[in-house]
Amino acid sequence: MKLIHETGWAPPPATVAPPLTGDIDCDVVVIGGGGGGMSAALRLAEKGVDVVLLEAQTLGWGASSRNAGYITNSVAADPELLGLLLEAERLRHLYRFAENAVHFAEDAITHHGIDCGYQQAGIVMAAVSKGQLRRARRNAKVLAEAGSSAEFVEGRAAGLPDGFLGGVREGVGGTLNPGEFVLGLRAATITSGVRVYEHTPARDVTDTGGGVTVDTPDGRVRARKALLTTNADSAGLSIAPKNLATPVWTSLVETEPVTPERLDEIGWTSRAPMVTLHMILESYRLTPRGTIVFGTRRLQTGRTPLPDRTPDQHVADDLVRGFHERFPGLRDVPLQQAWGGWIGMSSTWLPVAGEASDNVLYSLACNGHGFAQAQYVGHLLADRISGAALHDDLAAIWHGRKHFRRSFVSGPALYAGWLADRASDRLAALTKQQIAPTRLLGFFIAHPNG
Ligand SMILES: Cc1cc2nc3c(=O)[nH]c(=O)nc-3n(C[C@H](O)[C@H](O)[C@H](O)COP(=O)(O)OP(=O)(O)OC[C@H]3O[C@@H](n4cnc5c(N)ncnc54)[C@H](O)[C@@H]3O)c2cc1C
Repeated sequence: MKLIHETGWAPPPATVAPPLTGDIDCDVVVIGGGGGGMSAALRLAEKGVDVVLLEAQTLGWGASSRNAGYITNSVAADPELLGLLLEAERLRHLYRFAENAVHFAEDAITHHGIDCGYQQAGIVMAAVSKGQLRRARRNAKVLAEAGSSAEFVEGRAAGLPDGFLGGVREGVGGTLNPGEFVLGLRAATITSGVRVYEHTPARDVTDTGGGVTVDTPDGRVRARKALLTTNADSAGLSIAPKNLATPVWTSLVETEPVTPERLDEIGWTSRAPMVTLHMILESYRLTPRGTIVFGTRRLQTGRTPLPDRTPDQHVADDLVRGFHERFPGLRDVPLQQAWGGWIGMSSTWLPVAGEASDNVLYSLACNGHGFAQAQYVGHLLADRISGAALHDDLAAIWHGRKHFRRSFVSGPALYAGWLADRASDRLAALTKQQIAPTRLLGFFIAHPNG
């Protein structure tokens, strides 16, 4: 198995937009060209706003091209837990935002004509133990009450592989190739009239009162307003709110192709993409190239400036152990490659957007579930920065100027989460019963941000 620096989904863009040299003026500058930044810039250009997009590498280089490719209406925290912690109306609002984000991302595929293998496929939050199955039933109930499109399903009836007992099937969304998607969105952005500068990191962002200046290695942008869509790297910019994002490294592994006959043999007849109900999820999905991509399980923290890195061998080995435990019938399938990416975890584990200063708005719609949400928030922030009232869906995640509590996400806490999941697996294997460790998290996110 090769450990690679870049995304395993698609090659890098064939050409690169030139970096910024010298000083320029514009109306709005968007900093960070992931799905969120590109979507914001596209919306601004569509509205006739003179917009500049600065990207430290090439557009889509970050999490947006490296993720597992689930277009999901999940939010990062456990639904049952959210049901306990948030008022019913707030929860409904949050899930409506997440579901609209899915439709937004689907529309973007159609609107820009992006060929990225999107399959509307009913992602299943799948249980691998009786304890997880009980939790799946409770989660389905919470989600139904919150108005989310989701239903409880039994494993065999839902065509899940042997060993997956059932779960909650999301009624919207599916999977795609995020590398191909991002290349398509990048092409649309470049041809849209957005002034794109690649290999142009923003070093410093200053709100001067009358506007914003952004310093880059070889130039400066003066703008009326700015949007920060820098995800995990946000902590590297002093204008970003303190404790906005904790960078977390997430790894994925891809197998060699597996024949349809073998998938049928192990009972994966629905081919449904799955995430498990562990405290730190495991994800398993098929790709149009016939391979299986799986990941997460083990998360690692990092400090800015974030390194351009590969997954650690021991983390990739642990993911493979998990794959073999879940799919004993596929133990002989060769492994091809492993890659990873940085996600930015907010201290509430919920998507957030708000104001860093009078003229600078930010988004952090991520937490490992933000592929569609980041794009939707980018679009809504673009409307907001050009004078629109706060959209209902933006209001669902709006943080305004409030401070962020320090995140409890740390290397030791993530390791403890991994240990708890493994202990829980072990217990399930021994007793065919499983505790629900997610409940332990309740204490930590009981009072989101003060
Ligand atoms: C391995 C992995 C698996 C995931 N799986 C899923 C999934 O299946 N489904 C899902 O919904 N979500 C998933 N996610 C999360 C999802 O990918 C992100 O939430 C989403 O892509 C975030 O988009 P973004 O535009 O906010 O950030 P990014 O895509 O990270 O973009 C931020 C951009 O800003 C640039 N940048 C940073 N600092 C600067 C600066 N100072 N100046 C200029 N540019 C800068 C970066 O180079 C980067 O291109 C996963 C993430 C990872 C890493």
